[in-house]
Amino acid sequence: MSYSFRGYDLDIFVEDPDHDLLCSICHGVMRCPVMISCNHVFCRKCILQWLKRQQTCPCCRTEVRGKLFVLMHKLKRKINSLQVKCSNEQTGCPAHFPLLRSREHAETCPFGSVGCTNVGCQAEVLRKDLSEHSQVCEYWRQMCHMGCGTLLGPENRDEHNCYLELKEAYATQLNKLQQKARHMETLSSQMSRQILLLKGNLETEQNEPRSEELEPTLQTGNIGETAR
Ligand SMILES: [Zn+2]
Ligand SMILES: [Zn+2]
Ligand SMILES: [Zn+2]
Ligand SMILES: [Zn+2]
Ligand SMILES: [Zn+2]
Repeated sequence: MSYSFRGYDLDIFVEDPDHDLLCSICHGVMRCPVMISCNHVFCRKCILQWLKRQQTCPCCRTEVRGKLFVLMHKLKRKINSLQVKCSNEQTGCPAHFPLLRSREHAETCPFGSVGCTNVGCQAEVLRKDLSEHSQVCEYWRQMCHMGCGTLLGPENRDEHNCYLELKEAYATQLNKLQQKARHMETLSSQMSRQILLLKGNLETEQNEPRSEELEPTLQTGNIGETAR
């Protein structure tokens, strides 16, 4: 039947539902079951549609008095707890769950069909295959997450590697600094050798007899400090 208001298709249930759960108008399992004045129960939408054409019960033909329906809460709960199969069974989903959980499952079912979210891509894939599709999707675009401002696409994402570039730049810089440090070390050791040499020369001079007038200009104190 093609009515959108019909009850639940019998095919979705794991086990054949009891006969007293079926609507005698649409022959499906009752969706939102209501009881009319003669105590017969139908899908709410099925009986409303029926009563537009005739004012008699489709089961017992008695006249329906008023439109005061009783919503069958207990029956509704019972129907909601029936085990159903996933609507994506054909594409491979083996899941069974209570009817009440149908929508929840459909939103996350790995076998549900979803559209690729990349702008311009028309591809429809199973939810579980979406990330795989994204790897090969020609519409994939993303700004480099390192913040370099490069728009990455399938053609340049593999060779683009900001981190690698940064690492290489850092290594070059480090190498330069190390060379500089080595140079400074050589310089400083050369200088201390020269200082030692100078100190040695001065000490030899000091031990030699000197003329009186040279004594005050001999800055022993200062030389001692430089050598330290
Ligand atoms: Zn119905
Ligand atoms: Zn009736
Ligand atoms: Zn499923
Ligand atoms: Zn795509
Ligand atoms: Zn980048």
